[in-house]
Amino acid sequence: MLEVRDVTVRQGAIAAVRGASLDVGAGTIVALIGANGAGKSSLLEAISGMKRPIEGRINFHGERIDKMPSHEVLARGMAHVPENRLIFTRLTVGENLAVAATAHMSSALARRRREAVLERFPELALRLDEPASVLSGGQQQLLAVARGLMTKPKLLILDEPTLGLSPIATASMFSLIADLRVDGSAILLVDQNINRTLAIADTAYLIDNGEIALSGPARALPDNPRLAEALLGTARNS
Ligand code: ATP
Repeated sequence: MLEVRDVTVRQGAIAAVRGASLDVGAGTIVALIGANGAGKSSLLEAISGMKRPIEGRINFHGERIDKMPSHEVLARGMAHVPENRLIFTRLTVGENLAVAATAHMSSALARRRREAVLERFPELALRLDEPASVLSGGQQQLLAVARGLMTKPKLLILDEPTLGLSPIATASMFSLIADLRVDGSAILLVDQNINRTLAIADTAYLIDNGEIALSGPARALPDNPRLAEALLGTARNS
């Protein structure tokens, strides 16, 4: 459903991603692994239209999307939950979900989507009328993911959904992500908990210094010495 081909993304003076190719199949979880600064967020931003690649092409359901603004990509069924949870802390939990509904959604459909999303997030359902600012970090992160699900995306991009969470909140986020596949969404996941990420993913890509260095079944990646080299930053020195 998603095909990324030879994509190069510039961040300021540097090419943060160079010639990257990646595929996400319908209903699969794909992990993108790499050291800090390897280019993970830049690649995700290019995929969802937040950043325009300077080279390459990106197809989503057979349609070229790399020149589209992000709201058009969203309308085609892709949602991106970026690294720093973008929730509105002064709005209530319910209002945060309401504003995540898109302009093309009728208010009846938005209500139905909210009901469906809240079934997945009982903790949030209990706090609908409270301002998002009073939620714990884990609950705020859940709210960010719930917002991403309001459009019922075919592909959900999650950038560091467990950043700053307690071990318990992290574990529950991972089980939630694994369950989302059961609902039929494909997921492209970046998370610093490499072992947990690889345990729930079908396919994994390793990005090293802006380039895709490895790809294959996620469960095989922990045994590959290239993984440790890339994460420790020793590959370029050897
Ligand atoms: P992290 O895990 O630290 O978020 P990452 O793998 O997601 O890292 P990116 O955030 O994509 O990596 O960054 C890739 C490179 O681009 C890094 O060298 C980073 O310093 C640089 N970079 C990222 N954003 C910008 C920006 N807005 N302006 C200039 N350089 C940037």
